[in-house]
Amino acid sequence: MRIVIFGPPGAGKGTQAKKLSEYFGIPHISTGDILREEMSKGTELGNVVEGYMEKGELVPDHILNAIVRKRLENESSFILDGYPRTIAQADALDEMLSEMGKPLDIVIDLEVDDEEIVRRLSGRRACRKCGTPYHVEFNPPKVPGVCDVCGGELYQREDDTEEAVLNRIAIYKRKTRPLLDYYERKGILRKINGSGTIDEIFSNIIKAIGVEK
Ligand code: AMP
Repeated sequence: MRIVIFGPPGAGKGTQAKKLSEYFGIPHISTGDILREEMSKGTELGNVVEGYMEKGELVPDHILNAIVRKRLENESSFILDGYPRTIAQADALDEMLSEMGKPLDIVIDLEVDDEEIVRRLSGRRACRKCGTPYHVEFNPPKVPGVCDVCGGELYQREDDTEEAVLNRIAIYKRKTRPLLDYYERKGILRKINGSGTIDEIFSNIIKAIGVEK
């Protein structure tokens, strides 16, 4: 199963991708998580991408394309979260997957309006250790500030500040949303209402995929 989970920032891509990954037993590949890990390790790549990420700007396509190519080489099934984000990335993905003989099965678009996005992102937290996402209001941890899964510390992302969020929404509309047409034309796009409970949305995604475990 090869899935892209698509949608604006704050649509719940990471949350749903994690659930899908557990449900189907396939890897969740989040380009945002990969870049944040490089930053926290202080690698050369991490230093290059830091400035873009803090402002909510897109990291240049060639960097992302190289990261994803390397990560996908040895996977036959995956959930891609946060990539592709531009037409150039979608073309690169198409090319690498057809070279590898493993085309995408489905692109899930989680639809959420702008007001809801800002509300969700401002309350969003994640575990520093294992990346599990939370929301202070909608999906709180059992103990405030502590991860239910691994006991790690929860933190707020630097790009979840209001200024960076507004920038990310604008960039999504300008550069990323046009991909909806791209995948619609390929006939593999499924639109899912991204508001509702985490479990409701998940069950709608499973129905759209149309394959039970
Ligand atoms: P995310 O965790 O998916 O919201 O990504 C956080 C940030 O990482 C984005 O705002 C970008 O700065 C960077 N990033 C992640 N994926 C990509 C991508 N496919 N293309 C460009 N930048 C990306």
